[in-house]
Amino acid sequence: MKCPKCDADLVKQTRHGIEVDYCANDHGMWLDTQELDQLEDEAFKKDDEKGTLIFSSTVSNFKCPKCNTPLKQFDYRLYDLTLEYCENKDGFWLDAGEDDRVLQLMKQRKKDMVNKREADAEWKDEERHDMDPEIEWKFDLIRLRSKEFIDKLMDKFHR
Ligand SMILES: [Zn+2]
Ligand SMILES: [Zn+2]
Repeated sequence: MKCPKCDADLVKQTRHGIEVDYCANDHGMWLDTQELDQLEDEAFKKDDEKGTLIFSSTVSNFKCPKCNTPLKQFDYRLYDLTLEYCENKDGFWLDAGEDDRVLQLMKQRKKDMVNKREADAEWKDEERHDMDPEIEWKFDLIRLRSKEFIDKLMDKFHR
């Protein structure tokens, strides 16, 4: 396969535990469709919490190294990171350092999700704290009423 950017031959290289097709010239790399997911999984495994991968796309000036169709560019998961992909699901092109950016964004995403879950849990805790006194107050009221009732009964007896 040839590099879509500089036409040099791509060579197999292992990046973040994944075998990608790498351009030694401009340090970009080709990832097969499932390899982008594998890369993300190095930082964040929950697919349903990763966000929308491709929201919208435009045609780029570069061609797919596999099928020669013009690659489309898109904002990766709506972040400020532009990647290219092949509409025929051949894969993704990442420029130099963009694999690290993907991992960095997924690490942040994971952190945000953990914080969100903690915030949700705290909120539920607070909700519980708010409810406890009210329930206790109601119990007090019932106790008070029954005490009044017993008092009245006792009064009757004592008369
Ligand atoms: Zn290249
Ligand atoms: Zn293609």
